[in-house]
Amino acid sequence: MNVYDSTRMSDVLAPLGYLPTDQPDGADMIILNTCHIREKASEKVFSELGRLKQMKLEKSADGGRMILAVAGCVAQAEGDEILRRAPQVDLVFGPQTYHRLPELVTRTLRDEDAGGVLDIDFPLESKFDALPDDSVVEGASAFLSIQEGCDKFCTFCVVPYTRGAEFSRPAADIFAEAQRLVAAGAREITLLGQNVNAYHGDAPSLVFGGAADAAASSTWGLGRLLRYLAEIDGLERLRYTTSHPRDMDDELIAVHGDEPKVMPYLHLPVQSGSDRILEAMNRRHTADDYRRIVDRLRDACPQIALSSDFIVGFPGERDEDFADTLRLITDVGYAQAYSFKYSPRPGTPAEAIEQQIDEAVKSERLETLQNLLSAQQIAFNQSAVGQTMRVLMEKAGRRDHQLSGRSPFMQSVFVEANGRLLGKVVEVRIEKAHARSLEGTVVTGTYSGVAGVATQPSNHSGGPSMEAAS
Ligand code: SAH
Ligand code: SF4
Repeated sequence: MNVYDSTRMSDVLAPLGYLPTDQPDGADMIILNTCHIREKASEKVFSELGRLKQMKLEKSADGGRMILAVAGCVAQAEGDEILRRAPQVDLVFGPQTYHRLPELVTRTLRDEDAGGVLDIDFPLESKFDALPDDSVVEGASAFLSIQEGCDKFCTFCVVPYTRGAEFSRPAADIFAEAQRLVAAGAREITLLGQNVNAYHGDAPSLVFGGAADAAASSTWGLGRLLRYLAEIDGLERLRYTTSHPRDMDDELIAVHGDEPKVMPYLHLPVQSGSDRILEAMNRRHTADDYRRIVDRLRDACPQIALSSDFIVGFPGERDEDFADTLRLITDVGYAQAYSFKYSPRPGTPAEAIEQQIDEAVKSERLETLQNLLSAQQIAFNQSAVGQTMRVLMEKAGRRDHQLSGRSPFMQSVFVEANGRLLGKVVEVRIEKAHARSLEGTVVTGTYSGVAGVATQPSNHSGGPSMEAAS
């Protein structure tokens, strides 16, 4: 979501004459768009600010001026503490106020606010209504924020405090933004939200405008929204992240079974396999509830691959709780996963629990867990060898004449090919599997046109990890 927000900040700043650059040295403005989810992330902000101070001084010595800004959730959480601790910072603004950047930059340049400009409101107006319609799209895969904030209050998590209450954008606005992204070259769109499947945005008024529809629901869930977006010509793939198990409703599960543009891959964080810990985390589901959701997803879409987030060393986690987590991982089988040591966050209920776990125990559990998850990822990648997969070619690879793309299951796939194939979905025979990527050969010039349909029949033989034919 920070990547999406950064792109939108560039869009807002473009009319003021600012352009993105790869070179922070000598830039007129540097914005650190920050994350507050774990302690390490916010520590990094302050060490980075130390480094940037030097650059700012060099720019001043050359007679120029560099605006140094901190955005995102660290800005939201720390507020004027940043201006106090790092006086080289000119501007601090949160994730819900970046549409006000033109005004904030003007105030900064006029030096109206001695000691720095601060805007960490949760404004009544939605930033989405104020953001410009044109967006800079780079590459074939784009992000689109559809939902923000969270009302779930897991006891370890800062998101409800930094991103605020749950909010869903109207379906018609999302559709219009998706159309613009596709017109600008996107072939895949990943819908974003802190709790993306809690989406409940206003339905388009054309559909529910008439009196006859008065009884019909005027909000849509994520399943309905995905079907609507799948109608966009030229859009070939849809993904969404991050989902909460409690919001995997029947309609959303069904979409995985019958909408070929929705990719057979789902990031569905579970955090722990222990019911006792899940309860202490306020996740409001059990490990078996999660297993049942996975079963239903696999009934709807047998080839679906899963990914998850895990936290080890949550306060009070015993050896037997950790063993339950390992058992859940073994039962489900993941294509990839993210795992973290529990990090106490200021102001969250879990921080106040007395039985905090030793760092050494956390490290040991993390290593055990990651070994199991890596073995599963390697096995999943190995099972792709010999298969033909549809791969969206996204960028140049590490070597000359090499491109890199994504399989339906989010695996990075490297092929020898020329740049003509960038932005296309091509059929690739997978020949080699690595721990975190695949290598293969493009199958005889087969490519998909704008409609996303292969122009020649492929010679694949099907199999459990194939993308559903479109
Ligand atoms: N809304 C998503 C998660 C968003 S936060 C969900 O409910 O699953 C992304 C991930 O960061 C979480 O899934 C969790 O695994 C991790 N995380 C969040 N807070 C954390 C903390 N205090 N310590 C360690 N990991 C944390
Ligand atoms: Fe944080 Fe996700 Fe829980 Fe919301 S549902 S509080 S974002 S972990």
